[in-house]
Amino acid sequence: METQARGGYNGKILRVNLSSNVISEETIDELFCRKYLGGAGFIIYLLWKELRPGTNPLSHDNKLVLALGPLTGIPLPGSGRNCIGAKSPLTEGITKSEVGGFWGAELKRAGYDAVIVEGKADKPVYLWIHDGEVSIRDASILWGRNTKETQQSIRTELGDNRIQVAMIGPGGENLVRYACIMNGLYDAAGRGGLGAVMGSKNLKALAVRGRKAPTIVERTPVKELREWLLANMQLVQAFHEFGTGAAMRGFEATGNLPIRNFRDGLFPGVKMIDAQAIKDTIRVGMDACFGCPVRCKKKVQVSEPYPVDPAYGGPEYETLAALGSNCGIDDLKAIAKGNELCGAYSLDTISVGNVIAFAMECFENGLLSVKDTNSIEARFGNAEAMLKLIELIARREGIGDLLAEGTYRAAQKIGKGAAEFAMQVKGLEAGLHEPRSKPGLGLGFMVNPHGADHCCNLHDNLYVVEGQMKELRALGILEPVPVEDISPRKVALFKLIQLNRIVFDSLVLCQFLPYSLEQLADVTAAVTGWDTGVMEQLKVAERILTMARLFNIREGFTAADDMLPQRFFQPKTDGVLADKPLDPTKLEKAKSYYYAMMGWDTSTGIPTPEKLEELDIT
Ligand code: SF4
Repeated sequence: METQARGGYNGKILRVNLSSNVISEETIDELFCRKYLGGAGFIIYLLWKELRPGTNPLSHDNKLVLALGPLTGIPLPGSGRNCIGAKSPLTEGITKSEVGGFWGAELKRAGYDAVIVEGKADKPVYLWIHDGEVSIRDASILWGRNTKETQQSIRTELGDNRIQVAMIGPGGENLVRYACIMNGLYDAAGRGGLGAVMGSKNLKALAVRGRKAPTIVERTPVKELREWLLANMQLVQAFHEFGTGAAMRGFEATGNLPIRNFRDGLFPGVKMIDAQAIKDTIRVGMDACFGCPVRCKKKVQVSEPYPVDPAYGGPEYETLAALGSNCGIDDLKAIAKGNELCGAYSLDTISVGNVIAFAMECFENGLLSVKDTNSIEARFGNAEAMLKLIELIARREGIGDLLAEGTYRAAQKIGKGAAEFAMQVKGLEAGLHEPRSKPGLGLGFMVNPHGADHCCNLHDNLYVVEGQMKELRALGILEPVPVEDISPRKVALFKLIQLNRIVFDSLVLCQFLPYSLEQLADVTAAVTGWDTGVMEQLKVAERILTMARLFNIREGFTAADDMLPQRFFQPKTDGVLADKPLDPTKLEKAKSYYYAMMGWDTSTGIPTPEKLEELDIT
């Protein structure tokens, strides 16, 4: 099948070596596209094949891969995204992160399906990719600038305000291990420290502009799916009205809201920081990604006591919980300011919130003092402390240098039992969801190759009533599964949802859109011209997940790394989970069931030779 795909793909990967300044193009054939689909699939394959084991993530040997899928840039809501991956400076394993906005759609129009950046420039540079032409340009005057200044400066220099920019701010330049890459000013490839990888290559930005419409073999099914969504907007009404964060009061009531470093269960201040409070107080508008009618992205504005620029959007759920309840902070304006700072400096708000909560708990327990913290009273609830710490982290100044290493490394350096307060798996700080109320998600935190990620995961509360099971019956999950269940039937549900998420991340579609697996397979068939279906797409996801597992095993990860922080096996201090810790024995059993269902050895988690053969992984 060494033919170029007919639709959906440009058939070309751009490779840029910043050490040698060599720019080249490679073609991809239809078989490669079918085996790995795009996005997460392309990234994991390329990193598995091209990175040497033991590569230092912040060295010139690491590679940054930005990839699109066959649906990227087509006229379908949710299709503007791209996926970015590398070996993570935070976990030292594989990482990938999906990001919205317009950059992905623009790269498709510029003529590529992926960009591989390797080597290291000897001075700051940015890439300019437009209509099949590529150049490496001087970014010396951009180094040290925030993302807003960077985006505007590049657009002015190149004379086009419609250029889409993926970039880093000072956090990435200063190699904060959880720096993110920003697509524009409010869409982040947040997790795993991809911004630090960019910074380590002296790469400030990738600026993109293109005018070539994506190829679509059969347009009618795409139009029909778009019309289906428009006719069923009630399915995404909450996102449309509030963005994320509307359910935070319910999260507190059910125990799902992380409070003071995942320690506590009650937080009456939640009503002052949720999406309803934002709508009632500081929201000035809603915005959208490429071609999306959901328009779920908040914009907020504050004038005092902290000016907050609406150009940086507004805090979504993960940020509200990370900088808010998880730090014991109910000051919405301060959280909005923290969100703006993280966008300007290119820092992952999830890791930032976890790291600051970790520092606060260390401080309150005497493991850090004002001598260590640049005289900051780093206590839960101190909003000023949270904002000062973000500034120090971005610049790696004083205590910021230690905290820029992430909770795992900071805990090792502090010692004295600080590891108890590091809420991370494999080095990645936990998404703001509570395994004690969602054990299936806890299993996902344990086994996900890139650590405690909430996106490529199951949210147990979504599959507890009949109405939500419709799509899953055809795939063998016949009945709702109770939230607290962690038996093999929950593991089977988790596996299916995890594979489903990887299909989204490889087609590179927004997970907020309620497309079924069948709809995804049908629209892929229409765009590419392939005779494909759900079974093939799930098999691709299994191949990708198994390959990510192999990458980590090659780096020395074992089943012991598939482990939750001990805190989740203890009760919360108060609230509905005050007497409901997770049972470690049940979670270990669930892990073993999962390995078995994936065709991996039930005790070591190593994929069996038969599974590798089945998935055609060589
Ligand atoms: S639902 Fe929201 S995040 Fe997803 S594509 Fe639409 S606007 Fe972007």
